Amino acid sequence: MRLLLVEDDQMIGEAVLDILRAEHYAVDWVRDGRAAEAALSTETYDLMLLDLGLPGKDGLDILRQFRAARKNTPVLIATARDSIEQRIQGLDAGADDYLLKPYDLGELLARVRALLRRACGRTETVYEHMGVVINSTTHEASVEGQPVVLSYREWAVLDSLLSRPGAVLSRQQLETKIFGWDDGVVSNAVEVYIHGLRKKLGTHLIQNVRGVGYMVPRP
Ligand code: CA
Repeated sequence: MRLLLVEDDQMIGEAVLDILRAEHYAVDWVRDGRAAEAALSTETYDLMLLDLGLPGKDGLDILRQFRAARKNTPVLIATARDSIEQRIQGLDAGADDYLLKPYDLGELLARVRALLRRACGRTETVYEHMGVVINSTTHEASVEGQPVVLSYREWAVLDSLLSRPGAVLSRQQLETKIFGWDDGVVSNAVEVYIHGLRKKLGTHLIQNVRGVGYMVPRP
């Protein structure tokens, strides 16, 4: 899953970036409103974490334009603007959730997980798909009761495919979901992760659609 972090405060930005990366998300961090607009026009994200008070362009304006362009990516506002009116304004502008600074990083992560879960239509944090049990909170998988250790990029590939069962994702689409700007993209990385996943989870779960990409079938 790839996230856009829009935050001009250096210390908060670094802390959030670190914890999101530790949780296996690919993250791009921008520090002003114009850079956020540019990122949103060129990349596709699974979620945006949006500060409101930003140099260049206010977060609320960014959000309104994003929704006016019919983009349905989940947006979590994280801001110091704490009045009831401001919270209502943020949610009515199209935010899915609103978190006040200073916030707890654990709560931020839980809200991110909840929004991502909802975006792919899941209600449970632990679920089973074709004999593989997935825990989306701990990023663990097990097959027939046996835990399977996945590397964090293997997890990212699996999570991306499982979020849309039945949809074929090309190698390039998977690359954009697992690598942020700061990550060097290795040319055959996706093939290597898919190979690793099939070896660990069985060959039935991830199918190769020749010439198109990869998919996890609907159960
Ligand atoms: Ca700010």
